[in-house]
Amino acid sequence: MSKDWKARTKLVHEGIRRSDYGEVSEAIFLTQGFVYESAEAAEARFIGAGSDEFIYARYGNPTVRMFEERIAALEGAEDAFATASGMAAVNAALMSMLKAGDHVVSSRALFGSCLYILEEVLTRFGVEVSFVDGTDLDQWRAAVRDGTKAVFLETVANPTLEVIDLAAVADIAHGVGATVIVDNVFATPVFSRAVELGADVVIYSATKHIDGQGRALGGVVLGTRDFIRKTAEPYLKHTGAAMSPFTAWLMLKGLETMDLRVRAQAETALRVAGELEGHNKLSRVLYPHLRSHPQYAVARRQMGAGGTVVSLDIAGGQPAAFRFLNALELVTISNNLGDAKSIITHPATTTHQRLGDEQRAALGIGPGLVRLSLGLEDADDLVADLARALEAA
Ligand SMILES: *Cc1c(COP(=O)(O)O)cnc(C)c1O
Repeated sequence: MSKDWKARTKLVHEGIRRSDYGEVSEAIFLTQGFVYESAEAAEARFIGAGSDEFIYARYGNPTVRMFEERIAALEGAEDAFATASGMAAVNAALMSMLKAGDHVVSSRALFGSCLYILEEVLTRFGVEVSFVDGTDLDQWRAAVRDGTKAVFLETVANPTLEVIDLAAVADIAHGVGATVIVDNVFATPVFSRAVELGADVVIYSATKHIDGQGRALGGVVLGTRDFIRKTAEPYLKHTGAAMSPFTAWLMLKGLETMDLRVRAQAETALRVAGELEGHNKLSRVLYPHLRSHPQYAVARRQMGAGGTVVSLDIAGGQPAAFRFLNALELVTISNNLGDAKSIITHPATTTHQRLGDEQRAALGIGPGLVRLSLGLEDADDLVADLARALEAA
């Protein structure tokens, strides 16, 4: 469709495949297979792999394809493959392109399951992985070498919200011919400039801002047509990480409202961060678009807004953090993010429990740190709830 459309128009109209009935809302093609007019037609379709026809829903499905085309258009990527979860997308991006003997450089501050794939899975198959402090460009320069196959990073780290200078890391990586693979969940698809800044492969957990209403798991790998069709697709279609057509329909509906939702959530996040900064019960307020953020300049350059998550370090450690969480009446204790409902989590005892104290300390995940995902509630009500609960901490 039109390349000139602005983001919000693409999110409503891009990728639509209308059936002969002319339905307004995208149809759910809840079918695993497709019939052929003849034996010859079946043969031809199997030969023409990659052509715009469907064979089996593990390979592709019209509803899923609508979602893939819409999110690819938004991201400015040539193509996309949707997956059953964000982690299926991360796993496929890495496993589809790596083999024994390859070298990968990754930032250390990663979502727990991403760290598991890099640290435990890839290394079992003979891939060498070097970890660096992603915010220190000298460490990236020192770690890459001729023949480094890929670099992996989260542009904004969970839950410390460190921001990595993507353009600079991409330059370093491309200097040795490495593919730049980015988990861009915290930047959100709305504020992403990942492709423009040099990412070759971009991954989203659609579970987060794309659904945005806490209903379904999903993920997507975005990249060049060559990477998606020749590298990712063969791996994905044979290993079975396909997104279901029903989920794709939920995600299409999510995309229609995503820009409005995420901008409202980011506005609330900035306000909450600003109002809580300096509070006597908090030792730190972390938000990429607060001036006090260590990578404020990079965050301003790289992200149109600071995202929808604020991290708070509660003075008084875990007991105080638990008192704070338990005193909240509006903000719910859970571990999703990007949801319409504001959600808070204590990473040290939940999402990052698997790491030892030492590893957590190295990543800046102290016992008082809480991660707050701002939802769509009225910001006044959220500020009041948070301020009242802080008194209980
Ligand atoms: C949630 C998340 C994932 C995993 O996504 P799922 O849909 O839960 O599999 C990966 N990376 C980041 C940064 C995330 O926040």
